[in-house]
Amino acid sequence: MSLLGKRCIISGGSRGIGLAIARLFAAEGATCTLIGRNQEALSTAAESLPRHNSQDHETVPFDVSNTNYWMKMVADRKTVKCDILVNAAGISQNSFLFNTAHGDVSKIINTNLTGTIWGCKFLVPKMMKQKEGCIINVSSLMAIHGGRGASIYAASKAGIVGLTRSLAWEVGRFGIRANVLLPGYIQTEMTEGMDKNGELSTLIPMGRLGLVDEVADAALFLAKNSYAHNCVLNIDGGLSAT
Ligand code: NAP
Repeated sequence: MSLLGKRCIISGGSRGIGLAIARLFAAEGATCTLIGRNQEALSTAAESLPRHNSQDHETVPFDVSNTNYWMKMVADRKTVKCDILVNAAGISQNSFLFNTAHGDVSKIINTNLTGTIWGCKFLVPKMMKQKEGCIINVSSLMAIHGGRGASIYAASKAGIVGLTRSLAWEVGRFGIRANVLLPGYIQTEMTEGMDKNGELSTLIPMGRLGLVDEVADAALFLAKNSYAHNCVLNIDGGLSAT
């Protein structure tokens, strides 16, 4: 098990991509802390994780856009290390910019981008003390491709790329690696109904949507490879090449 003894914090760990990453990391020996807003969903997710001898997975329900919760979580775990931080919490958008409510603009930015900023900001000092750590931020192919009805979402995800690449310059010398994943269309609740008649699949060179486990595999590579730093890794069935 390549992540034996590692402690891992995963936002958006209650379902979809975040949960798949938690499942794979736990199978590799990591102990996971899952973050999401819904305690019931988090508990179900945590119970589904593989458990070896000393793994005691935990859940911390909170909204990632709220700095106070991040600060409390870190303060409550002063003596607990954090080897890997995965920022996967996110919400989508399906509206043209001129039709997008003001409140939705802030909600998308605050969840996707600001939530990721807080995760990095509050866990990096701990990793610096440890002199090691690994950050995996989940952006989206939309960050570079854009998408109709996804202006704010794409802006939030592009922000995550800029955040991660800058952070990589700042923390690399402290033994902390920072990388960003750009998934294309992946089968989760977020993409439910988007490929009803298979039209979306025809736009993807591989002819299908991706699976959460395929994204989790990429996250595991970033977690394990000790020289992978400042990577922007597309997992998109070839869509970025179109
Ligand atoms: P999902 O199935 O809808 O899961 C989203 C996760 O984020 C859930 O655990 C959700 O839990 C959590 N979350 C949402 N808002 C939150 C908040 N304010 N505070 C804390 N947790 C919050 O979506 P997914 O497809 O797995 O997406 C995971 C990440 O991958 C997102 O960042 C998404 O943008 C990105 N992504 C997805 C795709 C795709 O095609 N699916 C493609 C590219 C990138 P609660 O709702 O209980 O809080």
